[in-house]
Amino acid sequence: MTVDEILHQYDLKNTGCRKFILTELLQSNAALSEEEIKKPFPELFDRVTFYRTLKTLEERGVIHRIVLHDNTVKYALNGHHPDQNPLHAHFHCGKCDEVLCLQGKTRFDAELPADFVSHEVFVVIEGLCAGCNHLS
Ligand SMILES: [Zn+2]
Ligand SMILES: [Zn+2]
Repeated sequence: MTVDEILHQYDLKNTGCRKFILTELLQSNAALSEEEIKKPFPELFDRVTFYRTLKTLEERGVIHRIVLHDNTVKYALNGHHPDQNPLHAHFHCGKCDEVLCLQGKTRFDAELPADFVSHEVFVVIEGLCAGCNHLS
């Protein structure tokens, strides 16, 4: 899928900033922080435009955010993989700091107190990715 197709699918206008962010996310297997997305052209868009664009893309369901335990925010495309489940878990490598969307369903069972209702389960698995695991 191309960036133009994604924007068309979500019925969004093709602005430079939207295109730039989606291009970076599409090229990356890992989730990216705002800084990482900007890295190739840090001066291309001002902060406000960038922030607003990320917000719009998130609100429209094009991308989702992953918040790490140190409050770093990373972004990834929705439905990057055809079988991606909206309730997927994420993996954070403690060594290279890479964040990945895990494919497939996350099974998570928690016993809630009586009359409690769960709306969302947000799981980030901390560990080592294959590359870092083989190095250590
Ligand atoms: Zn790693
Ligand atoms: Zn994800």
